[in-house]
Amino acid sequence: MDREIVVSGRAYLGCESGMRDVEISVRDGIIESIDEVDRAEDRWIFPCLFNSHTHLADTVAMDVRAEGSLSDLVAPPGGLKHRILAQSGRDILAEGIRKSISFMMSSATPGFCDFREGGVEGVSILRSALEGSGADAVILGRDGGEEVSDGIGVSSTKEGVDVLERAASTKKRGGFVAFHAGEKDDRDIDPAIDAGADMLVHCTHATDRQLKRCADEGISIAVCPRSNWILGVASGPENPPVKKMIEYGCNVVLGTDNVMFVQPDMFQEMAFLSAVYGASPEEAIDTAVAGSEIFGRSHCIEVKNKAAFYTVDPSRANLSFSRDPVKTVANRMNFSFIERMYFMI
Ligand SMILES: [Zn+2]
Repeated sequence: MDREIVVSGRAYLGCESGMRDVEISVRDGIIESIDEVDRAEDRWIFPCLFNSHTHLADTVAMDVRAEGSLSDLVAPPGGLKHRILAQSGRDILAEGIRKSISFMMSSATPGFCDFREGGVEGVSILRSALEGSGADAVILGRDGGEEVSDGIGVSSTKEGVDVLERAASTKKRGGFVAFHAGEKDDRDIDPAIDAGADMLVHCTHATDRQLKRCADEGISIAVCPRSNWILGVASGPENPPVKKMIEYGCNVVLGTDNVMFVQPDMFQEMAFLSAVYGASPEEAIDTAVAGSEIFGRSHCIEVKNKAAFYTVDPSRANLSFSRDPVKTVANRMNFSFIERMYFMI
């Protein structure tokens, strides 16, 4: 990024402020000022997205034709996904991850939180794929990988006492603790909360009481609606109960889950959240950005924050007819409309 730049346009400054005509000055990658102007250039400015839940390594299993239960497909150690990962060498895994990161960079998603399988070696593969990508990753390892990464990403408390002990020692070291929970039923949600979770992934079948616990105890919830539908654990807007989560004050963030089944495309995820779950445009965008705040790297367009935004030239496509850029971005955005992304690690 240039040392000092000024970007003029209509910027989305969060759900309270909405869109404003501004000039944003960025110096050395940090937003120095945001000045409202009478008339800005014909350009939209939106905060970069943060994909709060990915499994990038299973890019190598993309769209394999398979049927079966959730366990048959993705549960460790014998699920189809894990068999394919075990058969794939380091180079091909890294190449798959690199290509998916590259896609996310092209779709305004330079930040993500990945559940990395494969222990210490698995973390090392993701790190090598990240080199030179410009992306900013939070890596949650397992099977020993949690000791050399940002924390632990547990498959489920149903795995047994070993993962609970690993979560406890990760917490003690100051690492981040995340669990898949409530994907198929509600049984592994309370044990995950009791184990000191910082974030639960899915909560597709969380009860009202469990959602209230998450809200009261400040536990973020990463929802991945498209994955839930594709894997057959959701078939309506009540699973995951996104509206209730928001109503109860949970910190809801958005993720895309396994690249094996779902493209890590946060624009599509936002559109699905809006269409199926009735999320407002602001809710869809804010949940797609909010993961960055959990990890202390806020993408919100605010003075003193790191510059992490992208611009859209509405005249490039039919977007020039939009009467509401916030709704348009939540509803029908895709990477081809992006003019430029401003982001520096
Ligand atoms: Zn997952």
